[in-house]
Amino acid sequence: MRKNHHTHTPRCGHAVGEEWEYAEAAIEAGYDSLGFSDHTPWPGTISPGMRMTMQELPDYISAVRNLKERYGKKLDISCGLECEYYPEHMTWLKETIEEYSLDFIILGNHFDYVQNSNLYFGNCRTKDDIILYLKTTISAMTTGVYDWLAHPDLYLRDYDKFDDTCLKTAREICYASRNLGVPLEYNLLGLMSSREGRFSGLGYPYHKFWEIAAEENCSVIMNVDAHSPKHLKDTAIYDEGIKHIEKLGLKRLIYTKEGLVEAD
Ligand SMILES: [Zn+2]
Ligand SMILES: [Zn+2]
Repeated sequence: MRKNHHTHTPRCGHAVGEEWEYAEAAIEAGYDSLGFSDHTPWPGTISPGMRMTMQELPDYISAVRNLKERYGKKLDISCGLECEYYPEHMTWLKETIEEYSLDFIILGNHFDYVQNSNLYFGNCRTKDDIILYLKTTISAMTTGVYDWLAHPDLYLRDYDKFDDTCLKTAREICYASRNLGVPLEYNLLGLMSSREGRFSGLGYPYHKFWEIAAEENCSVIMNVDAHSPKHLKDTAIYDEGIKHIEKLGLKRLIYTKEGLVEAD
């Protein structure tokens, strides 16, 4: 059976479809496990078009919990958040995990934590941009708060050449992943977007990054990163992702209530 633990809702402002439509799509496509992980809000900031507001957080969690009641027998539904790493908000994040008994936290290192910086790590254009991505990613991974690192190769999205900085970054992220026990996510939305030619640079998942992950013996979780129910219905891309991971010889993990375990 298929599993996905990276699913958004329209609250983030750039995903479409109600929660129940994601659940129906998952059942139709042969999933037995669906985890929601919408983009977290952060205290004192609003980011329309990127993340829900703080006021929407309780509603997000109760909507997912209600879905669990409704689809519980057919689909194992869990609730988490996809979060950047902002050191000043880690206390808030830990309290939120506790308060709502969140099932998992994904590290989605989209933006740098330096105040007033607008750098989106999917738009890295210089070596310094990439080094900042590396630095913040490793710092986040050492906190022990995150269950896995989403799209670790996001920095290659708009970057046009796999140079020494890209190589060093891949090597260090993979080494940290293995060493700290924070698995890497093989991201199917990236694979779909690459296919559709929607990235201006190398895009992700990028094969050289994943060859290094294999050399470093990294563990991998594959997720859809669904921003629309139709992403869950694309079972061809799901099967292709599994084949890529197997071909690379990477150990594939799946999320269960007991934590991450090796896939059959
Ligand atoms: Zn998103
Ligand atoms: Zn996501």
